[in-house]
Amino acid sequence: MRLLVLIDNGVPAHLLVRSIYAWSLIARSLGMEAVITDRRDGRPDLSGSWFRIRYAMEAAHTGQPYDLFIPRRPIAGPARITRTGGLHLLCGREEPEYLCHGKALGFDVVSAIFHLVSGQEEYRSGSRDELGRVDEKASFLHRHGVEGQPLVDLYIRVLRQKIAEKAGTEAFHGNWPKGKRFALVLSHDVDTVSAANATAVWNCVLRAASEKTASGKVIMSAAALRRAAMSPLRLGLAYPRWLTRPDRGLEMVCRIEERYGVRSTFFVFAPHVKPFHPLDCPYSYREKVIFAKKRVRLDRVLDEIGGNGWEIGLHGGVRSHADAVALGEQKQAVENALGRRVMSLRQHYLCFETDRTWIAQEGAGLSYDSTHGYNRLRGFRGSCCLPFRPFSLSLNRELDMWEVPLNVQDCAIDKKAGEEGDDHAEVMKLLSAAAETGGVATLSWHPDRFSDPGFRPLAEMYERILRWAQEKDALIGSVGQVMEAWENRSLRPDLDLDLDGDHLSEVSA
Ligand SMILES: [Zn+2]
Repeated sequence: MRLLVLIDNGVPAHLLVRSIYAWSLIARSLGMEAVITDRRDGRPDLSGSWFRIRYAMEAAHTGQPYDLFIPRRPIAGPARITRTGGLHLLCGREEPEYLCHGKALGFDVVSAIFHLVSGQEEYRSGSRDELGRVDEKASFLHRHGVEGQPLVDLYIRVLRQKIAEKAGTEAFHGNWPKGKRFALVLSHDVDTVSAANATAVWNCVLRAASEKTASGKVIMSAAALRRAAMSPLRLGLAYPRWLTRPDRGLEMVCRIEERYGVRSTFFVFAPHVKPFHPLDCPYSYREKVIFAKKRVRLDRVLDEIGGNGWEIGLHGGVRSHADAVALGEQKQAVENALGRRVMSLRQHYLCFETDRTWIAQEGAGLSYDSTHGYNRLRGFRGSCCLPFRPFSLSLNRELDMWEVPLNVQDCAIDKKAGEEGDDHAEVMKLLSAAAETGGVATLSWHPDRFSDPGFRPLAEMYERILRWAQEKDALIGSVGQVMEAWENRSLRPDLDLDLDGDHLSEVSA
């Protein structure tokens, strides 16, 4: 059975683009072949079996039969969240009376999904830090206490249930190959490769020199600079045994993952980060790290693990997060240094501005981003736990790349979090929410944490999650591996629209 979406043909073209974007996302997530049309007369050549959804202002009968009516209620002003039918529903001024009744939904699932995934509330947020990042604690989803729920996928599950009532569950293609139930993406931001090296000392000094008070005044002092210069050396002295040093981080990660037969993505800085920000941590690719019990140059280690199935992605510098040229140059520099194509990216410090960052990443020729997540919170920043193509509100089109949302990073977990603690329980609740909807859960653990005894509980938590995911029969892999599986099954709906040529090119761009 296929999906036929009948859109009200009175919708203006620029809004139609958004509806089509949301419907494409819905059809892909449902795993259904679909046709989206705004033709009043319907398609004359529709044979076979269809589940027909009418998406319009009114349910008024037009002669077109339908199986489900969804009211079109665009969210013009600030959105609200109400609890109806056991779900948190996103709506505009008009509050839904019910979730689902007979052949009708009680709320505009399409506008709600578009609003959440395109990050419209973040456009409105005036509260940003000095790196341009939104204030997570003041964010719309956190204020409503729903950042831990994949609302988009829960809404799609309601549609799935309605379709299954008529068509049975065989109407849907599975999300993942070999019947895997969900996907776990493993990733590591390589911020530190060794404790006491010239680059680390220089970075610490630059960082201390740019430290500011809350009012923005620079607080540089000779003592602070001296302390900063000594800190990497002190770290080296504090952990003199080769077993506990950060230059063993890469090896320890690889050894754990090898044991479970899985691979991950290592996001590395370009050898030279331009434009430079004091919070960037570039390292020389000639720096030596411990690998297979030997001291080996970083570029040779990256080459070896890249050849053994691990993915090497780009860790974009702070100042490049909205700069396509800088990102493109950093991508090229990593590719030149390693002789390997770079497709995935995560911005350092999760520097991310909705719209601007995605446009820059598309412009730099990157295929997958995994920055869209929280620094200090855990959850679903776009309320979505399947990979999605971002929509740019300023360009009014879908972008030619994929977002693989980030859900949990080690910085957002108490470093002493044990198996019995609240943090562990909350992380597992979040991962289970992604697993239940058949989506993707993405982890980011810094490699140097694996070799630092102060962070041992976090390394143990990482292994517990791997064991849990294998027991649950998850597809576990790098960003690239999981995206290859996703793109292989990805379904793009057919469009059959009654618009003129100009509008059509805008819609299908
Ligand atoms: Zn980083």
